[in-house]
Amino acid sequence: MAGLASEFRSRGWVAAHGPPEVTELPSGSDIKRTSNSNTNPSSRGLHSMMNPSTTSRLTAIQKHTTMAAADKSKPPYIPLAGCADDGWSKEDEATATCFCGAVQLAFPTQGPGLVDIFICNCTDCRKITASMFASNFTVADTHLKHLRGRDNLKTFSQSRTIASGNTMTNYFCSTCGTLMYRVGSAFPGQSILRIGTVDDFHLHETKLRPRVEQFTKDRVDWLCGVEGVKQVEGSAYT
Ligand SMILES: [Zn+2]
Ligand SMILES: [Zn+2]
Repeated sequence: MAGLASEFRSRGWVAAHGPPEVTELPSGSDIKRTSNSNTNPSSRGLHSMMNPSTTSRLTAIQKHTTMAAADKSKPPYIPLAGCADDGWSKEDEATATCFCGAVQLAFPTQGPGLVDIFICNCTDCRKITASMFASNFTVADTHLKHLRGRDNLKTFSQSRTIASGNTMTNYFCSTCGTLMYRVGSAFPGQSILRIGTVDDFHLHETKLRPRVEQFTKDRVDWLCGVEGVKQVEGSAYT
């Protein structure tokens, strides 16, 4: 552990905990070992190694150490994921942040602002997510807040691959490329956000657990459907 603090200093990680530096964060396992011996994950181990004059540096280390030691069993569960460290989760509202942290949204975690939660296996979703399915939740625009970075969003629209023939506009962070949400011409007044961008991972398995799985006909054959949710061969919403 003696090397950990000096490693932080030599990299200037605390002073500029921007995107490139955070990716170099030493493996969380060392940090967790220290934290697990304390009830408070702010880590007395690190404190004892630091020069008392470096208060701001210590504060930042404590903040990141707390993130790395996030306890999955105790909501909110906000692990180190991406470069932002200011995501939050409240009783009825939470944040969604892009990978680099430039764009952050706040959305409702219950109705009427939270409209639906669904998995989509359609060919369009597979291509645009660069994955095998999209995990989405629909929010009423009246309840969606752009906390920062709205002017950093870049859009791309097309209708060719949308099953309904409607136009779908995609909103990406122009810095890191994270797809934050889609807006469909068939669904005015709503935005389709991504479960994976939600900072509180506990919500992924609770309030944002999918209710519907659609386009099962396009599902890759090495995946099974989501157990216990409505399965629809084509679109569940048209
Ligand atoms: Zn970004
Ligand atoms: Zn789809």
